Amino acid sequence: MTQGRPQGRPHLNRRLSGFGTTIFAEMSALAVRTGAINLGQGFPDTDGPEEIREAAVRALRDGRGNQYPPGPGIPELRTAVADHQHRFHGLTFDPDTEVLVTAGATEAIAASMLALLEPGDEVIAFEPFYDSYAACIAMAGGVRVPLTLRAPDFRPDLDALRDAITPRTRLLLLNSPHNPTGMVLTREELATIAELAVAHDLLVVTDEVYEHLVFEGEHIPLISLPGMRDRTVSISSAGKTFSYTGWKVGWITADASLVSAVRTAKQFLTYVSAGPFQYAIAEALRLPDTYFEAFRSDLRHKRDLLADGLRTAGFEVYRPQGTYFITTDIAPFGEKDAHAFCRTLPERCGVVAIPNSVFYDDPEAGRGQVRFTFCKRADVMETAIERLSGLRT
Ligand code: PMP
Ligand code: GLN
Repeated sequence: MTQGRPQGRPHLNRRLSGFGTTIFAEMSALAVRTGAINLGQGFPDTDGPEEIREAAVRALRDGRGNQYPPGPGIPELRTAVADHQHRFHGLTFDPDTEVLVTAGATEAIAASMLALLEPGDEVIAFEPFYDSYAACIAMAGGVRVPLTLRAPDFRPDLDALRDAITPRTRLLLLNSPHNPTGMVLTREELATIAELAVAHDLLVVTDEVYEHLVFEGEHIPLISLPGMRDRTVSISSAGKTFSYTGWKVGWITADASLVSAVRTAKQFLTYVSAGPFQYAIAEALRLPDTYFEAFRSDLRHKRDLLADGLRTAGFEVYRPQGTYFITTDIAPFGEKDAHAFCRTLPERCGVVAIPNSVFYDDPEAGRGQVRFTFCKRADVMETAIERLSGLRT
């Protein structure tokens, strides 16, 4: 038996080298260690609807989902996902062949990359990107091609997108509403993206986990545009919409051939996930419109509270159109390095935030950007703002 590391070769393979610990884990650990207010990682400090939690408890007690549920997800949830797509977006999916339940959107992204990419395939994504994108593209052996969204509006440069497409481009990985900038793609932008995808025969994976958190404009699934139904994998998740991020229930909706491909990868990642929670989320997706409206209007109010507070505290604030994140710049404080700023923020004023700089390949592009979440109680955010106001003195 060999012992230790063979010949000094690192344990972590080349594909994953450099990925280290996710910034969310790093910053949440810092918040716990220092007792700071955590406006970093995007998880609510108040659980979602009680009736949904009770539905999960009922499922546990009744023995529904305590043993392996079906690989693609329980039929009740697949039907609820299809009905939700129809109710909010007028889209029709067959629950048996065109819906796949995953362990959160995270697994849906991973399984999509692993299923759809050959080594060397290029994937175009707008940076700053959600951190798992780069890792999942790398695990699949793909090559990421970043296109930079720039402050203050973070609108995509669609001419740059056109120029970035090469014969090796396989896939566009899009996120709207966009974490961390809060940018929401418009119908015109989506139409151009769709035209390019069709013209170059590209697949598109769309991360729509903030679909119910749009404050300006509207969420339009790319898959609803002409030519996109058969080439788009649409991803969403219950975590954000129902404020149960720990349950990790996500899903994809797509044409049967794409679902079948992604399911092939998914079945060897987790096989299935979260049986009893699937029953609860099937109920959550059927909550009345008033739930979704109240959720959005609560978060809109919180966005305004935090955006105004951060501006008063001295940050340059880029007001988001969607999601529950606000991107700011620390230049007004005479500071440039977001990561260094976030590492010292807890000791300086007892608040944790996320440096957007880690979501860019171009280190200069987001160097001074810091993200705060507003999925916290109003009084908690007010205290955080008070503390942050001390930064200027
Ligand atoms: N995509 C984006 C853009 C996110 O912000 C998150 C975090 N919720 C995820 C994917 C992962 O979602 P989940 O927790 O459902 O895996
Ligand atoms: N989506 C959450 C955020 O952006 C983090 C989820 C995670 O830690 N993986 O804050």
